[in-house]
Amino acid sequence: MRIILLGPPGAGKGTQAKLLKDNFKLSHISTGDLLRKAVADNMTIGKTVKGYMDKGDLVPDSLVVELLKEKLASKDTNGGFILDGFPRNVSQAEILDKAFKEKNLNIDYVIYLKADEPVIIQRLSGRRVCSKCQANFHVTNMPPKKKGICDNCGSSLYQRTDDQEEAIRNRLKVYLKETASLIGYYLNQKKLVEMDANFEAPVVFDKLKNVLSNSTKISLPGAFKERA
Ligand code: ADP
Ligand code: ZN
Repeated sequence: MRIILLGPPGAGKGTQAKLLKDNFKLSHISTGDLLRKAVADNMTIGKTVKGYMDKGDLVPDSLVVELLKEKLASKDTNGGFILDGFPRNVSQAEILDKAFKEKNLNIDYVIYLKADEPVIIQRLSGRRVCSKCQANFHVTNMPPKKKGICDNCGSSLYQRTDDQEEAIRNRLKVYLKETASLIGYYLNQKKLVEMDANFEAPVVFDKLKNVLSNSTKISLPGAFKERA
């Protein structure tokens, strides 16, 4: 199964991707994580992308595509994957379609996680990330057992620079300008599944699991809304 998660920052793409990964044994490909890793590892590309990321602007397509193609070429993605954070504009979507066509692969679902602005801002401003294993927590929604410490690996948690208010506003602006048009793009391809992502993560995941288990590829009639 190959899934794209679409939606504004803070809709819960990363959280749902991790749940999907464990439940369906898929590989989780987050371009945000790949980029943050490039920065943390002091890769040449990392120095270029950091400025864009801190402000909440999109990193130039060529750089993201390079990292993504490398990841897609690795064999741990053979059993299916969830793409989280890519594509983020129409040109990236076209690059992806072309790359998949060349490999005779197709995308099974594009899940559009829809969330309202106050929910988004509350989630992003309270998010804390593990400096080592990248696990995400939230000061009130998903607090770690010990304040400031990762439950999984015991390393310290930090707040992403782009989770400060000004960068959050800019990310929302960039989303509307660049990414929101992908909803129409995948609606045309009859791959879009729209989900209300304003609920807590386990609730959203339950609905998501239902959608993915109940609709086979062949019977998927086109764009449809999740059943209540
Ligand atoms: P979120 O979806 O919560 O905004 P991500 O971790 O997906 O966070 O992305 C963080 C930042 O990484 C983005 O603001 C952008 O600078 C960069 N980035 C991630 N994916 C892409 C992409 N596909 N194209 C361009 N920039 C990207
Ligand atoms: Zn950790």
